Amino acid sequence: MEVGDLSIETVIFDFGNVIAHFDYRIAANRLGEPLGLSGERLMERATSLGFRNLLMDFESGRVGPDAFVAELKVRLGLPQSPSQITADWADIFTANEPVHALAHELGDSGVKLVLGSNTNAIHASHFVRQFDSLLSRFESLVFSHEVGAMKPADAFYRRCVEVSGSPAARCVFIDDMLENVEGAKAAGLQALHFDNAVKLKADLLALGLPLNRPKV
Ligand SMILES: [Mg+2]
Repeated sequence: MEVGDLSIETVIFDFGNVIAHFDYRIAANRLGEPLGLSGERLMERATSLGFRNLLMDFESGRVGPDAFVAELKVRLGLPQSPSQITADWADIFTANEPVHALAHELGDSGVKLVLGSNTNAIHASHFVRQFDSLLSRFESLVFSHEVGAMKPADAFYRRCVEVSGSPAARCVFIDDMLENVEGAKAAGLQALHFDNAVKLKADLLALGLPLNRPKV
């Protein structure tokens, strides 16, 4: 390595809407069904009952999974068992396949892969199993509820850099949310705003990452 070499060693992927799409309406439809409520109505009710703050507490690790489910049950008057609520809440993800292909290609070339996700204990344990064929090859999975800080907080990115073993400047953070991209840059990482896999591939190639160039 030359002095001042800023070539990328580690690629850090956001999860939601990068590795996988998610849709809270799927969970809301299931949870609302025994109450005779549409998913949309259930989500309105949840919002009016301060659900957003509860979710932030859950994803920052201030509230654990059992307490979160108990709160959901009580606040929304859900008749389902806690384990059913957990299952209904968890299963909302579908793979973003072209991004999986890119991540596999990077991994095959010896690039270190790290996941950096604002998430919670229920979703993380679900999607780690669902996407095991990809995530098991990641060096490390960094979850906000375990770090105790959410993107775009500096502490979150510092944990990602620490587990990567690379200098911050040789990590690139990929996220679909602009504020998280800005947060990564402020923490000294390189960063890419994710829109789609074609653009991501072009952006990674421009940073010198070892991917096959698209055939023209
Ligand atoms: Mg995201």
